[in-house]
Amino acid sequence: LTYINQATSCRYCGAPYGRALCTECIEREGRRAFSFSEARCVFELSNPLRRLILAYKDANERRLAEYFARFLATALPLEWRLWADALTWVPADQHALRQRGFDHVGLIVRHLAVLTGLPARPLLVKLPGTDQRGLTRAQRFQNSQLLFSPLERPTEGRGQAEAHGHPQGRGQNIILVDDVLTTGATLDAAAACLLASGTADVRALCLARTW
Ligand SMILES: [Zn+2]
Repeated sequence: LTYINQATSCRYCGAPYGRALCTECIEREGRRAFSFSEARCVFELSNPLRRLILAYKDANERRLAEYFARFLATALPLEWRLWADALTWVPADQHALRQRGFDHVGLIVRHLAVLTGLPARPLLVKLPGTDQRGLTRAQRFQNSQLLFSPLERPTEGRGQAEAHGHPQGRGQNIILVDDVLTTGATLDAAAACLLASGTADVRALCLARTW
């Protein structure tokens, strides 16, 4: 597995060789290209890891969730842990849930919550018919505009959350977890949805970075 050196990666988009800011992010300086404010990725998406992720997602190797969570926990800086109020994740859509029988990133985040002591909160719903695979970069960003909506909680759940003073992550700093960051379009859309529903700030944490 090819670790990304966090000391030299782009802190904005998680690219391996940016050294603070990669060339793509320098070109975008001045306007925010992403809704998340920082990103961190543990590995470059090389072949052994691609196979592990496929074994986990599509061949039901759920035991890998705990290992993936440990890798994420190791890459999570102390500053992020102190900054964050909660973890959430990019959810699977209904079609993927039916096919796989589980929400693959959600399961990783539940393990990550135990390892970090941060609460895992489901905050997003992924809308159907919005698979990003096989699309070009431009198409991904276009397609991602209506990928997510805020999770509507049952009245009882909302009452509990409000009793604790944190309805739906409002006003909170959230770490948004996904498995693979490719163009950032999906994470961008998910972070935009969180911000639109009142989240204070979003940072992205991913297992793998393609480029
Ligand atoms: Zn960058």
